[in-house]
This record gives sequence, structure tokens and C-alpha cells, in this order.
Amino acid sequence: MTKTTAYAPQCVSLGPGDPNLLTLGALRILQEADVIFCPATIRESSVTSRARDIILAVGIEESKLRLFHVPMSKDRSKAMVAYAEVAGEIFQAVQKGLRTAFVAEGDSCFYSSVHYISDILLEHHGLSATHTAGVPAFIACGSLAGIHIVKQDEPLSVYPSNVTPEQIEKDLSEHKTVVLMKVSQQQQTLQALLQNRPDLSWHYFENVGVSGKEYYTTDKSIIAEREVPYFSILILRNE
Ligand code: SAH
Repeated sequence: MTKTTAYAPQCVSLGPGDPNLLTLGALRILQEADVIFCPATIRESSVTSRARDIILAVGIEESKLRLFHVPMSKDRSKAMVAYAEVAGEIFQAVQKGLRTAFVAEGDSCFYSSVHYISDILLEHHGLSATHTAGVPAFIACGSLAGIHIVKQDEPLSVYPSNVTPEQIEKDLSEHKTVVLMKVSQQQQTLQALLQNRPDLSWHYFENVGVSGKEYYTTDKSIIAEREVPYFSILILRNE
């Protein structure tokens, strides 16, 4: 009887959108994988996946992709079911001796929901996934704007949600740079700061690295009026 080699599932970071920001290590894993599990928004009439777009842009065959739908809702229970299903499929593929990869935008270990898949793989299937590092979106923001996000001994605060204007004011008074992620979910804080702190250095970004959708402005009046999408970041500096 031949023994099947079990390859550990590989969690691959894709960077924020620009295929040039995929690492050589990530590219090699994608090329060598037999099947790549990739998050998507699957609707009756359309399928969108920024992750798929990056993967196809670097020449990976579409036939290797296995798109899975991730329900977008504050109630994470439906998404958890989707992650459990994907983890089960990865497990089955590993059992068959296939090389499996599953992907995340930006860096897979930085505020990425892909950790649910890694956790389920480990806890329910006894599989420990490896991770490759990637460029997080906020790092790509710095180069797009040509700014030093932090200089010398300056500290940095990164907030994914639920931060108060007072907390941000405190950070800025301590000369921290503030990175606000998921800006669309922090509208009240954003509007309060726009009112109270027009003196700050404002850098607002959308869809960094995504061809045709990337946007950057320092204009506070535009930021105040703008319909903020999910893929947006605000960087505030006190200078
Ligand atoms: N793992 C990702 C973060 C995912 S959390 C990383 O390493 O960057 C999702 C949040 O990340 C979004 O709400 C947005 O604030 C930010 N984000 C991710 N990709 C982005 C992009 N291309 N442009 C702007 N913001 C992005």
C-alpha cells in the first residue's frame, strides 16, 4: 500500500490589492498548490473577489481556485458556518495528498478573519496551517501618500473599531500616529474629529492598490462628505 504524503495547509497573504505586492514566497506556494481556497462575494448575478483578482493577475490557473462565499453581516454565525465548511474541504483535500492553500488579503495575521479557518483546522481537524507574511494595507498607504507613517521613536496606534474621539485625541497628544481601519464603521468618531481637529495632518485612503478604485486625499471637506467604503483607512498625524 502506498502512503499518501500529507502537506500542511498553507495560509497565503496576498497584500492589499496590487499584484506587485505579493511576495515571492506567496507566489511560489500559489504556483505549487493543487487547490486554492479563496474568499468571494457570490451573488445570483455576480461573483466578486479581490483575492481572486490578485491571484489571476500573477498567472495562476483559474481551475485551481475554489471560491467560497463569506456572508458579510455583523452576526458572524453565518460566516462561521462558511469557515467551518471550507476548513472541512481543506481537511479532505489534505487527506487526499493535495497541496492546499487558502488566502487572505493584506497580511493573514493582521486583523484577518482567515484566522477562523486556521483555528478550526487546528481544533477540529488537528491540522496546523503555515502562514506567509504579506503587506498590510496600512503599510501600503504610507508609500502611496509618500509619508512616513511613524518616524524615529514615535509610537503607533491602530484601531479596527469602536475607538472614541477622546482616545484618539489622547494618542495624538502623546505624538502617536493613529491608523483608523474600517472607517465606514467609525463614522461618529470620524465626524467628531473632523469638527474638532482640522489642524491635524489627515490622510484618507480607499481601495489601496486596487486598479481603477484606489483613492487618496488629504482634503478634510472631501472626507467629511464622502461615502466611505469598507476598504478605507485614515491616518492621522499631529504635525
Ligand atoms: N489583513 C488586512 C486587514 C483586514 S481588516 C491587512 O493586512 O491589511 C479589513 C480592513 O482593512 C478594511 O476595513 C480596511 O480598513 C483595511 N483594508 C484592507 N485592504 C485595504 C485596501 N486595499 N485599501 C484600503 N483599506 C484596506
